[in-house]
Amino acid sequence: MLANIENLVINFVENYKKSSNLKTEWDKPIIGFANASDPLFLELKKTVNKKHKLPNELLNQAQTVISYFIPFNYKVVLSNTKGKKASIEWAFAYIETNKLITELNEFLAKELKKEDFDSVKILPTHNFDKNSLVSFWSHKHIAYIAGLGRFGLHKMIITEKGYCGRLGSLITTAKIKTTRRLEKEYCLYFHDKSCKKCIDKCFYNVLNVDLFDRHKCYEVCLENGRIYSHLGLSDMCGKCACGVPCSLKNPVK
Ligand code: SF4
Ligand code: SF4
Repeated sequence: MLANIENLVINFVENYKKSSNLKTEWDKPIIGFANASDPLFLELKKTVNKKHKLPNELLNQAQTVISYFIPFNYKVVLSNTKGKKASIEWAFAYIETNKLITELNEFLAKELKKEDFDSVKILPTHNFDKNSLVSFWSHKHIAYIAGLGRFGLHKMIITEKGYCGRLGSLITTAKIKTTRRLEKEYCLYFHDKSCKKCIDKCFYNVLNVDLFDRHKCYEVCLENGRIYSHLGLSDMCGKCACGVPCSLKNPVK
């Protein structure tokens, strides 16, 4: 079963897509595995926040962190390329993918338990302090450690299938072969300085080469959340990542 985790994730998403009443379409997920004792986890206490947890602080005998990326279909991305407010399709994708991740983690934990492995399911979002906006478990840093991609100028993770989608993770006592981290940059700015499109796309001037005002960015996300509050919890924006070279692929490749 352990060698099959990747297929379990892919098949779960494929079957989930057939559920009725869903607005969102997803492409095939990508999955990475990190050794729970990787020294980079300790670095997160410095780079993210001193309260960021180590895998072993959340699960005794943790061996592996499973990280996965569920890409939105290009139609979701296209819907969010125009205008200042987030599109309703983007709001639905945010809400529905968070639900999908919660159910996928439940499923994986049950499958692992069948082989006597324990797991800790991490919520897809709102793992952060509302005042400082720093997280005790940063899915994007975990994705980097698990070899799913690298950071872009927009402070998000760019995977082989771009940025537009959602990240999930799960810690387990199962020992799974780790994924190799690539050294090469995935962002055109860090690769050869040929792009700053995400900065141009942020209508709110909260993003620059040397600056990211996370509080202002969160205010924008909350404003979108208010607009779509009738749909569910949807504090999101994503304008800087839609209609740019890294939206749906690794543009450096
Ligand atoms: S839009 Fe360009 S500069 Fe910004 S993260 Fe993507 S590739 Fe990098
Ligand atoms: S998510 Fe929105 S507000 Fe935040 S940096 Fe991107 S475009 Fe700007």
